[in-house]
Amino acid sequence: MMMNTMPLNNDIQMPMLGFGTFLMGGAECEESVLTALRSGYRMIDTAEAYGNEEAVGNTTQKSGIPRGELFLVTKVNFRSYENTRATVEASLEKLKTSYLDLVLLHWPFGNYYAAWRELEKLHQEGKIRAIGVSNFDPDRLIDLIEFNQVAPAVNQIETHLLCQRRTEHEWMEKYHVRHMAYAPLGQGRKNEMFENPALVEIARAHGKTSAQVALRFLMQSGVVVIPKSVHKGHIKENFDIFDFELTADEMAQLVKMDTAVPMIGNPENPAVVEVAMKW
Ligand code: NAD
Repeated sequence: MMMNTMPLNNDIQMPMLGFGTFLMGGAECEESVLTALRSGYRMIDTAEAYGNEEAVGNTTQKSGIPRGELFLVTKVNFRSYENTRATVEASLEKLKTSYLDLVLLHWPFGNYYAAWRELEKLHQEGKIRAIGVSNFDPDRLIDLIEFNQVAPAVNQIETHLLCQRRTEHEWMEKYHVRHMAYAPLGQGRKNEMFENPALVEIARAHGKTSAQVALRFLMQSGVVVIPKSVHKGHIKENFDIFDFELTADEMAQLVKMDTAVPMIGNPENPAVVEVAMKW
């Protein structure tokens, strides 16, 4: 059976499965995060840009779970890259904690070199246990590693059965950067993903759902997943994936679903960049 955590390049252990909070706020966010914590999730993924760090912080604090058992991830928005220190300090306040487990640069836009160097300092001061990036293609990643002191521990990129990022994964492995999948359920695409006949058949054989197999496939490929849901049933279901194992043959069948085309967050696509820049 697989480990529930994986070591980062600085030997900190990161959970293999976390809870995503994109597009949830206020009471709905608090309730969903509470359900997640009660279901066993300990890693929560938020961001300055999501506007819900306060709701996440309220809930982690109220939950009574010791801070050392939680793994809090947030991201600095590119519009704040010139003010990274103040932004991280605001995140610490909103999340009601004296340190963050992982802070990511949200996109490779704007002055991300300045932002990275400030994250390095905050990391050295012990305010952030690990630092990383998001939406970085391998070329940007290698450049950042080459010209800075601390290499990113994690790169969070769109990854799911329909876009498995197998080439990117190999590059990240080479540089010891952990691969964290955002949109691991393809943002809930039913027809193209969940109803794929091979996936449905594999799920049936294990008495699991398509969503559970989609997440398990990534974890077994060495990819950390952070599925999101605001539905109690789905929140629990998405965490209940540690009690079965896909066979090598099943993994090979699922690899065939890869189109290698990102649908959501492709930093190589100018039209996607224009939309992302509006955040
Ligand atoms: P996701 O792939 O996690 O899909 C979420 C959607 O899938 C839900 O809204 C729901 O419609 C559906 N769903 C969830 N569980 C299901 C289940 N068991 N059965 C059927 N349908 C189910 O998409 P996401 O929220 O975009 O990505 C996950 C997290 O990744 C986000 O919440 C956020 O934390 C992070 N993220 C980061 C970036 C970035 O730029 N770094 C971008 C997008 C998302």
